[in-house]
Amino acid sequence: MKNAKGNNLQTMQPPKPYRDFTDFLSANFPHRVQKVTINAGFTCPNRDGSKARGGCTYCNNQSFSPRYKKTIKSITEQMQEGIDSFLRKYEGVRYLPYFQSYTNTYGDLESLVAMYEEALAYPDDVVGLVIGTRPDCVSDELLDYLSSLSKKTFVLVEYGVESTLNRTLERVNRQHTYEESVEAIRKTAERGILVGAHMILGLPGEAKEDILRHADELSKLPLTTIKLHQLQIIKGTKMEEEFQLSPKSFDLFSLDEYVDLCVDFAERLNPDFYIERFASQSPKDLRVAPHWGVKNVEVTHKVLKRFAERGSWQGKNAKPLLPQHSRFLSTHSADSQQEK
Ligand code: SF4
Repeated sequence: MKNAKGNNLQTMQPPKPYRDFTDFLSANFPHRVQKVTINAGFTCPNRDGSKARGGCTYCNNQSFSPRYKKTIKSITEQMQEGIDSFLRKYEGVRYLPYFQSYTNTYGDLESLVAMYEEALAYPDDVVGLVIGTRPDCVSDELLDYLSSLSKKTFVLVEYGVESTLNRTLERVNRQHTYEESVEAIRKTAERGILVGAHMILGLPGEAKEDILRHADELSKLPLTTIKLHQLQIIKGTKMEEEFQLSPKSFDLFSLDEYVDLCVDFAERLNPDFYIERFASQSPKDLRVAPHWGVKNVEVTHKVLKRFAERGSWQGKNAKPLLPQHSRFLSTHSADSQQEK
């Protein structure tokens, strides 16, 4: 059966109650795009002593062992392995190398450029780059390079913001402030580079209203994407020690509570942002808590169902933006980005 526009009604999907990152990719690329995760062997200023040695209290530190660097394969090899590992291959698929592990802008400009360009030069239909990093680890010269690169290809810089409260950032030993996140996001977006923010929901000492206020604060920023995940206690971390000593000082969400929190958060979020992820779970053998017993994709399905049950949508309860914020967003919104 077809509707008036000729679409097959059996295969039509109802519109999502939030802006999904896959829709963003579809709007920007005429073909399917898959991220290929790269571990380029970076370390982190919060570990190597330039800022601190302890690291963020929730950080799994296995990458900081002396053997770590020796075990990293070349970027080209990782691209090949990543592409080969996709169980299902789609005709015409293109790839986005995703520099994900640790601080992927922590190095001298020349080495960084060489790494990014090795990934971009991979001969199998690479259409851009996604770079994850800390907000205190981007130089103006690197942003200038990424800005010129973004005129030729897709570039998204994803910052670990984690919280908008400095007392929380201090408590988890992030070694940067929220103001530094704001500055990095603005400086990046001002150069025409797409910007994402990564947030952890449920960090210690944050009440539900504190978490929802993160959505209000982030909504003022020139972000394109946002990635959320629940706080997890990972084995071998400082946070695990704190958790074992005083589990009551942590307020880990049940699955049901977290699903509601995601909807509450999205309701307060700028409706222009694309939500890339609601939840992520580390492997079970690394995780002390929580154990929800579902896969990430099932969490997303539950969030979608909860939106429907509540008759809700992203931005439903978003605070009106001041003119300076909305003006900035309207000139840098995701919809204005076309494939280069
Ligand atoms: S979470 Fe990131 S910033 Fe924090 S210690 Fe680990 S690698 Fe460094």
